[in-house]
Amino acid sequence: MPAERVGGIPFGLGSTKPHNYWEVMRTAWENKRHPLFTWRILRDGVCDGCALGTTGMRDFTMKGIHLCTVRLNLLPLNTMGPLDTRVLEDVNALRSMSSKGLRALGRLPYPMVRRRGEPGFHRISWDDALGIAARRVRTSPPDRIAFFVTSRGMTNESYYVAGKVARFLGTNHIDNSSRPCHSPSTTGLKDTIGVAASTCSYADWIGSDLIVFFGSDVPNNQPVTTKYLYYAKKQGTKIAVVNPMREPGLERYWVPSVPNSALFGTRFADAFFPVHTGGDIAFINGVLKHMIERGWVDDAFVADHTTGFEALREVIEHESWEELERQSGLRRQAMFDFAEMYMRARTAVFVWSMGITHHRFGVDNVKAIVNLGLARGIVGRVQCGLMPIRGHSGVQGGSEMGANPKDFGLGFPVNDPNADRLQGIWGFRPPTAHGMTAVGMIDAAHAGGLDVLYMAGGNFLETLPEPEYVREALARVPLRIHQDIVLTSAMLVDPSYAVLLFPAQTRYEQRGGGTQTSTERRVYFSPEIPGRRIGEARAEWEIFMQLAERVRPEAAHQIHFEDGNAVRAEIAKAIPAYDGIENLREKGDAFQYGGPRLCEGGIFPMPDGRARFTVVSPPDAIIPDGQFLLSTRRGKQFNSMIQGEIDPLLGARRRDVLIGAEDAASLKLVEGDDVLVSNDLGSYRGQLRLAPIRPRNVQIYWPEGNVLIRRGIVDPACEMPDYNALVRIEPIPAPRRSS
Ligand code: SF4
Repeated sequence: MPAERVGGIPFGLGSTKPHNYWEVMRTAWENKRHPLFTWRILRDGVCDGCALGTTGMRDFTMKGIHLCTVRLNLLPLNTMGPLDTRVLEDVNALRSMSSKGLRALGRLPYPMVRRRGEPGFHRISWDDALGIAARRVRTSPPDRIAFFVTSRGMTNESYYVAGKVARFLGTNHIDNSSRPCHSPSTTGLKDTIGVAASTCSYADWIGSDLIVFFGSDVPNNQPVTTKYLYYAKKQGTKIAVVNPMREPGLERYWVPSVPNSALFGTRFADAFFPVHTGGDIAFINGVLKHMIERGWVDDAFVADHTTGFEALREVIEHESWEELERQSGLRRQAMFDFAEMYMRARTAVFVWSMGITHHRFGVDNVKAIVNLGLARGIVGRVQCGLMPIRGHSGVQGGSEMGANPKDFGLGFPVNDPNADRLQGIWGFRPPTAHGMTAVGMIDAAHAGGLDVLYMAGGNFLETLPEPEYVREALARVPLRIHQDIVLTSAMLVDPSYAVLLFPAQTRYEQRGGGTQTSTERRVYFSPEIPGRRIGEARAEWEIFMQLAERVRPEAAHQIHFEDGNAVRAEIAKAIPAYDGIENLREKGDAFQYGGPRLCEGGIFPMPDGRARFTVVSPPDAIIPDGQFLLSTRRGKQFNSMIQGEIDPLLGARRRDVLIGAEDAASLKLVEGDDVLVSNDLGSYRGQLRLAPIRPRNVQIYWPEGNVLIRRGIVDPACEMPDYNALVRIEPIPAPRRSS
């Protein structure tokens, strides 16, 4: 079956779309200083972009080249030279620079320190840097020390050693960047089906009867999925999108690695369901209501493999259509259309991302998707599955390796029996009190409750709500350690006592290579790439380890690893799901833990072997008159790393306020008008841009929009911040011309 073309104009000339071939040429130019090193990273390394996963420029899903502009745009981070450390002597001069500008200064080459009252940083030796850190850690109570590990190129080895080091120092205050991404997914899935990762493989997309994207824009975030979708469409797969914005990339895309699609484009989505922001539960309950009324539920699967359906049925039967329509923003006919499409599909894969998780009810959103999946038994079968698709390469491994305040590692929550078990492997007993999440760390820092905050990558200033509050919190921590490859704005926050910069190596530079886990649970080996190295930058796992050895030299043998192989050998023992990681040594080495599909045959790793339906009620969705519901979106960026001013899929600029034509008309505004978006928390000046978004919903780009997002509103089950807000929009009068 041919996938439907977009039109007859070659390469979509004149359309708003990414220009992939131009990006390839631009990247080649930007990386011209180290062409061989760059080529080796591409040819042999595991992509450090999104969590789709590659080995070199290949993958395990289909033949052909696997490469995208996200990876190309990230390459300069891996190939650029060192920054001139003199620029750090006066941080005031750096404060006006954008994060993009700070990154472009170059890689951090040496350990640096800035003490209270000093205008900037100066270079010190590793010995001195570790000495300063060790003295402060040694004199601090363990519950006043916290670690945060981002996913920027981080390997499983680094996560694992960070998690072990935190426990070695007596604290479970360690979190990772999957918190502000998919913590509702891991919590929601674990509670209902007993696993906390994608139940299927990407290969299950191809030929599945139906793929549904809930709050997910894969052409933007995981671009090579468009190739998978192209081949899925060729096999007759239908694609449905449940999202407030009619995302252009899901409507049509020019897949650069498929000649036919690169030339004429491919239409993807067969149906859009433009729900209200946060209206997914109401929509799904409405779909289930239709399915129950028409007998479209797979009764045999429900009876044989699940519990809790009757309670859900009873609640849904009493939910009125009027309420479900009001809360979802869609008519019952749309819910019927979805239900019918789903009923006709023998196989289906549900994919979701931040549009589902970034809510104070993110866990309930995930459980609603699970309810829908279980109603037709789309788990544990070929071409079926539930997939919380990950953003950043390596983020899947973060929590699974134990860089998590409530888990020692995949399958081992923080508790006494698991602490006893780890004592047998580690030689010391980890603490058993739950640690703080990233949100909790910032609150503790603000309240003066932290002595040491060790951040490996990441930038809370740009990822958490209320940046000014975060800035105050960071400034109150006596010792901040920023371990990173480049400069970030958070490093420039004044020290309360001292700020240390630890220069890190990229995953490609670390001796002996490292491993990374993809969304589909595939653990890849990324070899060390020979070539230039930056100053005195060290492997991330080694820095964690060396600090721990300095803090407790008498017990250094308990935390010491000779090399990456030794770390992997211990991971295999401590986290049995990762058994096999100790055998990964060369490019191309990989294994998929759990196999292609989890819960095969409808057997769920729950106490009774059954999956659980959950009664989830739609959250209140009242938007007061005169206000709009704001959500934040990503453009040409990778997490908080903004790579371009224009979102190539939408043609919007970073400062644009995206609004539907109907709403703009009701405000008597037109495209291009300057507007003030505000609430009681703050304000944001932008320019109106018309977009295919449902009425009363607006979007601005993240992290700029964080000034309007209130801290402290989190999902109680996992502390995921709610990245949405009610706002007003008003015109900014044009300045009067002086006569
Ligand atoms: S789709 Fe993701 S994994 Fe693949 S090349 Fe692009 S950024 Fe890398």
